[in-house]
Amino acid sequence: MKILVVGGGIVGLSTAWALVRLGHTPVVYDQGAVPNPMAASYDQHRIIRLAYGERDGYCRMVKPAFQAWRRLWRDLGEQHYAETSTLLIGGRADDYASSRASFDRLNVPYEELDKVTIKQAVPIPTTTQRRMGLYNAEGGVLLADRIVGALTVWLRNQGSEIHPQTMVRDVDFHHAIVTLNDHTQHEGDAVVVAAGAWAPQLLPELAAHVKPIRQAVIYLRPPAHYLQCWRNSPVIVDFGGTDDARAYHPSQILD
Ligand SMILES: Cc1cc2nc3c(=O)[nH]c(=O)nc-3n(C[C@H](O)[C@H](O)[C@H](O)COP(=O)(O)OP(=O)(O)OC[C@H]3O[C@@H](n4cnc5c(N)ncnc54)[C@H](O)[C@@H]3O)c2cc1C
Repeated sequence: MKILVVGGGIVGLSTAWALVRLGHTPVVYDQGAVPNPMAASYDQHRIIRLAYGERDGYCRMVKPAFQAWRRLWRDLGEQHYAETSTLLIGGRADDYASSRASFDRLNVPYEELDKVTIKQAVPIPTTTQRRMGLYNAEGGVLLADRIVGALTVWLRNQGSEIHPQTMVRDVDFHHAIVTLNDHTQHEGDAVVVAAGAWAPQLLPELAAHVKPIRQAVIYLRPPAHYLQCWRNSPVIVDFGGTDDARAYHPSQILD
């Protein structure tokens, strides 16, 4: 089947990858470049972790996600992932207790670290008092821009059509037709919309159900002695304040 995919972020590109594997023909449209530096999927890092507080559903999805990433590395012939382990420290007490309860419900292996052990394992300043830590050996850093870049090359090598700078202005799901900004219409057998934070603009009926949120990223060049600490440190999840926060490894030590 010919499947029209609107959006060339990680969701659109990995959907196209899965479609090729199943013998279908994806056609990807993106309003910007592919990969698109303005998309949520484009950055040095994203983390994959098991701790999601009480949200068992997220935690359950992570195991199949690891398997899917491994399939992708095999197809790409290279791995864009560093398994650093992850550590949930302090932050909101309910996140800690609810993540631990979720692990117990789902039989996810974890270790509880006390604050002395945490200080030895992660001798990096954090914004809160270090209380207890939940440690998962599985999890780490996905090298996001390399992944979307490699997926784009892989899809092109498979002969998939990728149309950058091509905005879709309307979707007719019933007839599987997309209308582009230049008013041309293109028909397939089905349409998948993977438009990320832009989705409610294309599909206004979604606006009542999904609310895009903004996250800030701060890049820091740590002093040399902290750089060394990071080499053996887990990714730190939710390490302070009232909002989620994460500390990733400086990308240069993951190469
Ligand atoms: C700062 C930050 C940190 C994050 N950290 C993590 C993390 O650690 N772990 C994690 O799992 N997730 C994390 N996320 C979330 C994750 O990055 C996103 O969920 C994911 O990248 C979304 O991918 P997507 O393909 O849905 O959207 P996007 O990557 O935004 O892609 C959507 C694409 O659709 C295109 N598009 C939109 N509308 C149209 C249109 N009408 N026509 C044509 N093209 C269109 C856009 O140009 C864009 O390229 C983070 C997000 C941010 C912003």
